[in-house]
Amino acid sequence: MSAHFAPARRRALQQSLLAWFALRARALPWRRRRTPYRVWLSEIMLQQTRVDQAIGYFARFLKRFPSIRALAEAPLGDVLKAWEGLGYYTRARHLHAAARRIMAEHGGRFPRDPAAIRALPGVGPYTAAAIGSLAFGHDAAALDGNVMRVLARLTAFTGDIAKPGARAALQELADALLPRGAAGAFNEGLMELGATVCTPRRPACDVCPWSRWCAARAEGDPTSYPRKSRKQPVPHKHVGAGVVVDARGRYLIAQRKESSMLGGLWEFPGGTQEAGESIEACIARELREELGIEVEVGERLVTVPHAFSHFTMDLHAHRCRLRRGRPRAIHCADWRWARLDEMAHFAFGRADRKIIEFLRAKTRVK
Ligand code: SF4
Repeated sequence: MSAHFAPARRRALQQSLLAWFALRARALPWRRRRTPYRVWLSEIMLQQTRVDQAIGYFARFLKRFPSIRALAEAPLGDVLKAWEGLGYYTRARHLHAAARRIMAEHGGRFPRDPAAIRALPGVGPYTAAAIGSLAFGHDAAALDGNVMRVLARLTAFTGDIAKPGARAALQELADALLPRGAAGAFNEGLMELGATVCTPRRPACDVCPWSRWCAARAEGDPTSYPRKSRKQPVPHKHVGAGVVVDARGRYLIAQRKESSMLGGLWEFPGGTQEAGESIEACIARELREELGIEVEVGERLVTVPHAFSHFTMDLHAHRCRLRRGRPRAIHCADWRWARLDEMAHFAFGRADRKIIEFLRAKTRVK
C-alpha cells in the first residue's frame, strides 16, 4: 500500500493536511488543556456521539468528575446518571471500570504504554491510537469511519470496508501516510477533514486540501467511495413496559442487571413480546418473572419508538395495578417505588425517559 505514496507525494499530503488543520481546526473544548483524562473522555464520548451533542456532556461530566480519581471513587449509578441521554451506556460502564483500574494498577496516572492503554476497558485499536498520539505523541495512526472514508476516496480504494481485510489495508495506508513526530495533529486533521469537508454525502472537494491528489475526485464521483456491502436489515421488536402505580401515586421502577444491555440503568419493568403473545400478557409475564408480582394490565399509555444499533423497537407502556405480591429483585438488580419528582435521581435510557415525560405531561394536564 505504501506504494501508493512516493516520498514527495506523501510529504505533500502530510504538509497540506497539517497546514489546513492549523488554519481550520474547530475550537473544541477537548482541544484545550489537553490532559490524558480529557483526551480519553472526549474520544470515548465521540465514539458514538455527534460533536455538538458531546460538547455539553463533556463539560458537565468533567465538572461532576474532575479527575480520574473522582471518577473511580463515584458509584456507577452517578456515572450512568451523568451519561444519561448519550446512549451506548457500555461506554460509561467501561470508563468507570477503566478509572478504577488506573487507580489500582497505575497509581492513578493514565498509562503511557500503548499496550497498557489498549488493555483498558472500552479502548479498541482506534481509541488507543487516538489517545496515544494526542496525549503522548505516539506515532500511531487512528482509523475510524471518517478516516476510512477519506482514505478510500483519496486512493479510489475499491475494497469493501465492511470486511476486515479492507480495513487492514486502509490501516496500512494510514500508517504509511503518518508523519513521524506529528501523529496527533495529523490524526486529528484527518478526522476533521472527514467530519467537515469529506462528508459522506456532500464532499466539498473545492475546499479540500487533498483535492489535487484525490483519485475519487478525478474519477468524478467521490460519493461512490467507500465501497461497502449492504447491512442486513435490523430486526424490529415489540417491548412491553408496566407502569405500576401504588396507592400513594408512586411508580414501580427496576434497575437492569449490570451484565445486560443498558446494564445499571433504571426502567419501567417489562421485556420483549414473545411469538403469539399479546403485549398485555407479555407485561404480566415479565413482571412475574422479573419481580415476582402479579399485575392487572390496563390501558396503553404511550408507545415509544426507539432505535438501537442492532435492533429497533416499539416500547408499549401500559398502566398496571398490583394485584398480588411484594416486588423482589429476581431478574433485575434492584427495584424502587419512586414519585415522578424523584425520577431525576435515577439514570434511565432514552425510551424510558420518554415515558416519564409522558407521565409528567399527563400530570400537568390534570
Ligand atoms: S477531494 Fe473530495 S473526495 Fe477527495 S478527499 Fe477531498 S473532499 Fe474527499
